Amino acid sequence: MMRVGLTGGIGSGKSTVANALRQLGVPVYDSDRRARDLMEGEDGLRAAITELLGPGAYEGKTLNRPFIASRVFDDPSMLEALNALVHPVVRADFESWAEGQSAPYVVQEAAVLFENGGYRGLDRMVLVTAPEDERIRRVMLRDGVSREAVRSRMRNQWGDAKKIPLADFVIRNTELQQTLRDTRKVHRELLQLAGNALN
Ligand code: ATP
Repeated sequence: MMRVGLTGGIGSGKSTVANALRQLGVPVYDSDRRARDLMEGEDGLRAAITELLGPGAYEGKTLNRPFIASRVFDDPSMLEALNALVHPVVRADFESWAEGQSAPYVVQEAAVLFENGGYRGLDRMVLVTAPEDERIRRVMLRDGVSREAVRSRMRNQWGDAKKIPLADFVIRNTELQQTLRDTRKVHRELLQLAGNALN
C-alpha cells in the first residue's frame, strides 16, 4: 500500500486538507494527536520523557503541556532530544496502523515530516502552504494565543522555501474552496499512482 505524507507549517491548513481527504475515504493518521496519546499511554516513553524533562512533565499520567512547551520551544537541543524519544514510537505505531488499513493509499499527517526525516520512509509527500502572516492570524484565532507564542513554535519549523523542493504536491491554502478542489485533484493523482504501483 502506498504511504503518503501530509505536512505543512503551523496554521497552514494540514488538518483542513486531512479532513477533506477523510471525506474522500482516505485513511489518515494524525501523528500529532497519536504522539500525545502515546506520550501518555506508553509506560516506557512516559518514563523516558520524565527522565529528560523532569517530573513536572506529567500530572499523574496526563501530560503537562504548558510545562513541556516552556521547556522545549525555546531550547532546540531539548526539543531534539524529546523528538528523538517520541518519533520512533510514533513511526512504529503508524506502520502497524497502516498495515491494518485496506485502501489504495494511506496518509500520515504531521507538522514536521521534513524536519524530522520522516518523509524518507514515505512514498509521496503533500505539502500545504499559506502566507506566514495568514498562518499566524489563523492560529491566534483558533487557539487564542499570542502572536509571539505562534512565532516561537514556527521557529522550530522549516520555511516553505526549504520544503517545496522536497514535496511531490503543493497545495497553497488561501481560499478554502480552491483548496478543496486542489485536494480532490491531488487525491485523483495519488489514486492513479497507487494503481500503477500495483501493476
Ligand atoms: P497546526 O499545525 O497548528 O495543527 P494546521 O496546519 O493543521 O495547523 P488547520 O488547523 O487546518 O492548520 O488550520 C488552522 C486554522 O485556520 C483552523 O482554524 C482552520 O479552520 C483555519 N483555516 C484553514 N484553512 C483556511 C482558509 N483557507 N481560510 C481561512 N481559514 C482557514
